[in-house]
Amino acid sequence: MSQMTADVVICGAGIAGVTTAYELVVKRGLRNVVLVDPLPPLTLTSDKSFEGYRNWWPGPDDSMVSLMNRSIDLLEKLLQEAPGRLHMNRSGYLFATADPEKAGQMIASAEESTRLGAGPLRIYQGEASDPTYIPTRDHDVFDAPTGADIFLSQKLIRQYFPFLTDRAIATVHARRCGWFGAQQFGMYMLEQAREHGAQVVEGKVDDIILQAGHVSAVKVSTTGGTLTISTPVLVDAAGPMQADVARMIGVELPVFSELHFKVTITDHLRVVPRDMPLLIWQDPVRLPWTDEERAMLAESEDTRWLVEELPAGVHGRPEGAGDSDILLMQYPYHTPPVDTTFPIVQDSEHPEIVLRGLATVIPALSTYLGQMPKPFVDGGYYTRTRENRPLVGPLPVAGAFIFGGIGGFGMQVANGAAELLAAHITGESLPHYAPAFRLERYADPAYQQLLEHWGATGQI
Ligand SMILES: Cc1cc2nc3c(=O)[nH]c(=O)nc-3n(C[C@H](O)[C@H](O)[C@H](O)COP(=O)(O)OP(=O)(O)OC[C@H]3O[C@@H](n4cnc5c(N)ncnc54)[C@H](O)[C@@H]3O)c2cc1C
Repeated sequence: MSQMTADVVICGAGIAGVTTAYELVVKRGLRNVVLVDPLPPLTLTSDKSFEGYRNWWPGPDDSMVSLMNRSIDLLEKLLQEAPGRLHMNRSGYLFATADPEKAGQMIASAEESTRLGAGPLRIYQGEASDPTYIPTRDHDVFDAPTGADIFLSQKLIRQYFPFLTDRAIATVHARRCGWFGAQQFGMYMLEQAREHGAQVVEGKVDDIILQAGHVSAVKVSTTGGTLTISTPVLVDAAGPMQADVARMIGVELPVFSELHFKVTITDHLRVVPRDMPLLIWQDPVRLPWTDEERAMLAESEDTRWLVEELPAGVHGRPEGAGDSDILLMQYPYHTPPVDTTFPIVQDSEHPEIVLRGLATVIPALSTYLGQMPKPFVDGGYYTRTRENRPLVGPLPVAGAFIFGGIGGFGMQVANGAAELLAAHITGESLPHYAPAFRLERYADPAYQQLLEHWGATGQI
């Protein structure tokens, strides 16, 4: 049995673990920080994401918007540091609806995000094009507008977003949003952390040893046997396994996991404009089928759901620069809480359902129905809290910390959340949003009451 010592052990080298190491080692000069993971870094969930980011989050308070704004600030600093290597755009998120009631809700939630610090609203109701609206192709990351542009005129929607179904009656183009090479950002930070002294140990944390109620060591199983790492600080950044790791020290985390998939196809006929924002359709959809297909699907109990109304939330975006013709699509139409098992199994019909869903709102995609380009599908777990806010801060065992509950927004929140966690670990002063993400918030009866009436969670 071998031994080593560390100032901090981080269990899990996904984006949560890597950004924490970066904050501790590169930004704060700690040297003896060890990441432990049985897998190569950033390969379980953190290389499966849609790579979207947004400062467009609901309340009830400004904590999520503030944390995301901070996280995006930090991503922008990295982009300035390595612009040739890291990729990020500001194409925005385009929320769209054909339903007048939903349009009202979209405006109300836009007003809320604005009030919470996401930037100003510009509303366009008239028919004439308005020079205040700056289309995506006319700006870059650092000169982009913030806030959102709301279009309530079908004529303008057709003019600016001609790819969208002409049923759309309202769109919200949120602007401090877009996508980025999230895994590349992670690799870049990992390289920096290693250059500054962080170590990566290939192994699985099997046990956490306490002495007088304080973290004192972790036991790691490696291919060479058991390794004991003496440490006063343990960070649980174990992604889908975060609850198992917390249970090693008797702590129950209020998290559950949903399985989500991303579908990638080549849009070889180039029916989707390359400057399309990340489009999210806000209404339920009915998949397009021929009469014959519809009748056949309706016959069997197993397939009847495919002709019924499916939930809102189908989304898509172009991927890649230059002459790339890649299209990414996601449609979370069935995401109940599940056990986290590996390898992940996917339904063979999933890609076609996603394409059909997106074709209801980008009609030109119908050209691929019946001759779908070969899809590539990958996926992972959104391990999240009920209200979809992360867990960042101390656990109720001295020396133990959590970086979890980052669900479907882990890549974009990681930098801001890691900075927050590092401040907790080193005892620095904390930003105003820190209490909103501590585990102990659930012990507050007022917070429990708030949870009972929690509104939007911001999950797409
Ligand atoms: C389809 C899909 C789309 C997504 N889209 C977006 C998006 O657009 N934007 C966004 O911001 N986020 C998105 N996400 C979410 C994002 O990918 C996750 O929130 C993020 O990757 C989670 O990172 P993590 O570090 O917590 O977990 P992981 O990346 O899973 O890393 C956890 C690590 O812990 C290790 N581990 C577990 N147990 C142990 C143990 N006992 N000992 C040692 N190591 C252990 C695992 O091996 C793993 O490497 C998406 C996710 C999916 C699945």
